[in-house]
Amino acid sequence: MVFAGCLVDAFVYNANPGRVIFGAGTLSRLPAEVERLGLQRVLVLATPVQESSAQELSRQIGARSAGVFADARMHTPVEVTEKAMAVVTERRVDGLVAVGGGSTTGLAKALALRTDLPQIVAPTTYAGSEMTPILGETQAGRKVTQSSPKILPEVVIYDVELTFTLPVAQSVTSGMNAVAHAVEALYTREANPLISLLAENGIGALARGLPRIAADPRDREARSSALYGAWLCGVCLGTVGMALHHKLCHTLGGMFDLPHAETHTAVLPHAVAYNRPATPAAMQAVARAMGVEDPAAGLYDLARSLGATMALRDLGMPQNGIAQATDAALANPYWNPRPLEKEAIRALLTSAYEGARPV
Ligand code: NAD
Repeated sequence: MVFAGCLVDAFVYNANPGRVIFGAGTLSRLPAEVERLGLQRVLVLATPVQESSAQELSRQIGARSAGVFADARMHTPVEVTEKAMAVVTERRVDGLVAVGGGSTTGLAKALALRTDLPQIVAPTTYAGSEMTPILGETQAGRKVTQSSPKILPEVVIYDVELTFTLPVAQSVTSGMNAVAHAVEALYTREANPLISLLAENGIGALARGLPRIAADPRDREARSSALYGAWLCGVCLGTVGMALHHKLCHTLGGMFDLPHAETHTAVLPHAVAYNRPATPAAMQAVARAMGVEDPAAGLYDLARSLGATMALRDLGMPQNGIAQATDAALANPYWNPRPLEKEAIRALLTSAYEGARPV
């Protein structure tokens, strides 16, 4: 029997452990969560932009706080992790609190990989990193990804109020980044009915939430819908393997230093168009979730109508990068439902480079 795009009688499902606290105002439970884990000296992590939120949390945690480290950076550079490690050792830190997007969560995960310290993460974007045992670290310009149970955060507090300040443009691209996790979870080799349910629900929650956020960034119901969707999409990313779309974004991001969520947004409609002929049930699920006829065009129209940049050239990719990225995408490829064909991949990247609407 086929259910949500999967054969119900043949699949493997791996669940990741973790505690999730969801809802407006839930960050006020942070001191109790620190206590529940028996922590005495937690370090609060943030990016420089979100330092004041980290300082405020540190004050709320009170005597159990060992202070703030507010130097998290995109793509988790190893030099930053080493600086933070020195603070962890010097202050005898026994737990980590991260408040921020994927960059801050990445730093907490990098520290946890080295120390196995427990992590409490309060996400402020829709990237979904908090739900995955995956870490991508950058050293000497190379991003290396690894997976370990030590990397998965123990507690995640989804407080919708933290997302009100996320600018509309970033909300849209971060939301599309989340949608990408769910779309690929629907057609990955490890697809299974439970994850497909989460994926379809996650896409729907974001597709409904994002237009309302663009109209009013303080719309609490829309923010809750998007954050809930981001959680579900993050579970998808953390549970099953990804495919061509994630491989392309990883390649393009590393090769041309393109911004993470924006690159996902521009590439997703074209990766979906590429895989569309090979994945009819997954495509129906995406279309159903979004209330559109065609998933590739629907994703493009959603992002574009909300002001996202749809051309990779406008994100900084050079034109001669198309051939280079095509070769890189074909080297060590991820499993993909449609075999990788060089000319078709080049055409996909050309369309994404130009920001054309997929047909
Ligand atoms: P980000 O964490 O880099 O945030 C971008 C900027 O926005 C930062 O300056 C941040 O401080 C600021 N910001 C975040 N939330 C805000 C808010 N609510 N209000 C105001 N400013 C806010 O962006 P991101 O897209 O969340 O994360 C990207 C990084 O996460 C990349 O390095 C990517 O590789 C990684 N990532 C990893 C995984 C994984 O599973 N390992 C999954 C997704 C993303």
